[in-house]
Amino acid sequence: MEITFVGTAHGIPEKDRRCSSTMLETGGNLYLIDMGCMAVEDIRRTGKQVASVKGVFLTHMHGDHVNGLPSFVDLCSWYFTSADPVILLPTEQGCEALKTWIRALDTQERDLRISSYGGFAPGVIFDDGVLKVTAFKTQHTVSSHAFLCEAEGKHVLFTGDLKHPSVDFPPELFGTKMDLAVCETAHFPPEDYLPVWKKMEIDTVVLQHVQPRKEPLAEDLAKRQTISPRIVVGYDMMRMTL
Ligand SMILES: [Zn+2]
Repeated sequence: MEITFVGTAHGIPEKDRRCSSTMLETGGNLYLIDMGCMAVEDIRRTGKQVASVKGVFLTHMHGDHVNGLPSFVDLCSWYFTSADPVILLPTEQGCEALKTWIRALDTQERDLRISSYGGFAPGVIFDDGVLKVTAFKTQHTVSSHAFLCEAEGKHVLFTGDLKHPSVDFPPELFGTKMDLAVCETAHFPPEDYLPVWKKMEIDTVVLQHVQPRKEPLAEDLAKRQTISPRIVVGYDMMRMTL
């Protein structure tokens, strides 16, 4: 599995970081977790096929996780017509807003598979035989979720945005072996994760959603951490192979 950290900023773009989006490549398919930046441009820029995108999953309805999606669905609706991704948002209101936006554009409209998973969470929200995505409710917003992504026998956790690790880091995952945990570090010091990481067997942590004032703390923690998990401070377009 290849993972590209397309955008790693906190709530607003910075000079060297764009808002949240992460791309998974597995089984010849592409999947995106959040689309706060224009990820479709990166798919094009890196020579990948938009038609290879089989799923887009949003952790919550904040602009820094969502704002690139209208551009993606616009292009899928009139140009990349062989693309047929499943697009899962946490709220029905978000789905309706996206469909309304597509209708408002003076382009040909095509039905896309846009739907809400909120009614099903927590639980498996997607499984195409290549990637399985399980959602866990968090307390950042009324509709926020963490995701567990499973493919090729690997387990990857995306925390999405949290209230605090001591409150809403998914307890269902304590004791689970995790190849990678992608953890936000915008809302609390990264050290606050240490007690919950100890409850799990995590190989590598990537800190993303990096808030500038907390970046030195994240770098320091990564340097100090000599036992598992290995900690990496993510940056835009960083690639990782699992
Ligand atoms: Zn956020």
